[in-house]
Amino acid sequence: MTQTPSKPLRRAAARPPAAPRVGFVSLGCPKALVDSERIVTQLRAEGYLIAPSYADADLVVVNTCGFIDAAVTESLDAIGEALAENGKVIVTGCLGAKSGADGGNLVAGVHPSVLAVTGPHALEEVMGHVHRHLPRPHDPFTDLVPEAGVKLTPRHYAYLKISEGCNHRCAFCIIPAMRGDLVSRPIGEVMREAEALVKSGVRELLVISQDTSAYGVDLRYRTDFVGGRPVRTRMLELARELGELGVWVRLHYVYPYPSVDEVVELMAEGRVLPYLDVPFQHAHPRVLRAMKRPASGERNIERIQAWRRTCPELTIRSTFIAGFPGETDAEFEYLLDFLREARLDRVGCFAYSPVEGASANALPGALPDEVREARQAQLMAVQAEISRERLSRFVRRTVDVLIDEIEVDEHGEMLGAIGRSAASAPEIDGCVYVKPHPGLRVGEFSRVRITSVTEHDLRGSVVV
Ligand code: SF4
Repeated sequence: MTQTPSKPLRRAAARPPAAPRVGFVSLGCPKALVDSERIVTQLRAEGYLIAPSYADADLVVVNTCGFIDAAVTESLDAIGEALAENGKVIVTGCLGAKSGADGGNLVAGVHPSVLAVTGPHALEEVMGHVHRHLPRPHDPFTDLVPEAGVKLTPRHYAYLKISEGCNHRCAFCIIPAMRGDLVSRPIGEVMREAEALVKSGVRELLVISQDTSAYGVDLRYRTDFVGGRPVRTRMLELARELGELGVWVRLHYVYPYPSVDEVVELMAEGRVLPYLDVPFQHAHPRVLRAMKRPASGERNIERIQAWRRTCPELTIRSTFIAGFPGETDAEFEYLLDFLREARLDRVGCFAYSPVEGASANALPGALPDEVREARQAQLMAVQAEISRERLSRFVRRTVDVLIDEIEVDEHGEMLGAIGRSAASAPEIDGCVYVKPHPGLRVGEFSRVRITSVTEHDLRGSVVV
C-alpha cells in the first residue's frame, strides 16, 4: 500500500498559499498507483500544488482499494481520517464503484459528507470534481511538469499500465465488476509513455495490467504506429518494442498460454528481463475450475519446463490461494506437490478470504479460518526451502543490481545498500543486500558478486 501523506504533519500555514493545494492519499495495487500518478500529474499540469499534510491542503483526494475486506476497511478509515483532519474530500478508485447493502454507493453511505465519489480509472471525472470544489489556478505552470508526468514510485523505476479491466470472471475476484471488461491502450500510446519515462531517467519498466497475455484482444490486435512504423497491439510486439529502449523490462500478470513461449525467447535473447510473474493461484484441476481461472486447462508443469529449456535464467514468480472453499486435504497436497515439482523461484500465498460480491462466497465447503491459515503457512514453509535452493545458483556469480536504497547510520556513514537483480521485482520479491562501497548510487546499476543467500534474499559485494 502506498499512502501519501500518511499523517498530518503540521498545522495550517498562517497565510493562505498562492496556488490551491490538494492533498493526495493513494491506496491499493500498482494499477491504482498508476491512476494516482495520472491524477497528480494532471493536478500539477493545471497549476495545483500537492500538499504534504492534511492541514496544508485545501481539499484531499483519496484513491481507494476495494479488493479484499481488509482493504475496504483501510480505505474507509483513510476517508474518515481525511474528513476529520481536512473536511473536503473527493473519493476515487475501486471502492468508489462498490454498492452498500442498501444498493446505494457504499462510500457515500458510510461517509455522507464526502464531496464526490468516482470509480477507478476516472481522471476526467476526478478533475471535474476538483474544479468544482477548488477552482483551478489562473496561470497553469504546465512547464513545471516533467514530460513523463509525476511519478509516485522512485525515479528509477515505473509501472507501465497497458490495459484496464479484465475479460475473465474468476470466482474470488470482483475486479471485472468494478473495472469492467478489458480495454487495452493502443501500442503507440504505451510506447510514447515508455519512451518519455526512459528519457526522464527510469531504468526499469514494470508492465502491469489484469491480464498481460490478453493485451490487445479487445482491439483485435489492431495495428498502431510506433515511431512511424506499423506495429500490432499485442504482448509479443510490445515486449519486443520495449526491449529496444535499453532499460530493464519486467512483465507482470502473464497467464501460461502458448503465446508466452515466444516472449520467453525474447528473454533468452536478453531483450527483456528473464522474469515472468504468472499468477497460477492453484494447481489442482478441480479447484482451478471452481475458481474459474483462465488457462486452467494448460499443462503448466510441461510449460514451465519448456520455458526453462528455452531460457535457463528464467525467474518465475507466482501467487497462490490456500483454503479455497471446498479444497480437500488431497487437493492441497496436490498443490504442494506441484510446487515441489515446478520449483518456482518466487511465491506469494494468501489464505482464502471472502470478498464481498465475489461468486466464490456462494460455493459450498467454506473452510475454517485456522485451516486456511495453517495451509498458507505450510505452503510458505515448503516454498521457503525451494526459494533458497533456487537462489543458491547465484552464489559466486556476479550479477547486475539496480540499487533502490542506501542505508546510513546516524552519522551519515554508509551501512550498505539494498538493490535488486533481474530475479526480483520491487515491493513483492526478496532483494540483494550489498556491502558498503563508495561507488554505490541509488537508481544506478552495480556489478555485485553474490556471496550468500537466505530464503528470499541475496548478499554480496561490489566488484570493481
Ligand atoms: S484474471 Fe481473474 S483474478 Fe485476475 S483480474 Fe481477471 S477476474 Fe480478477
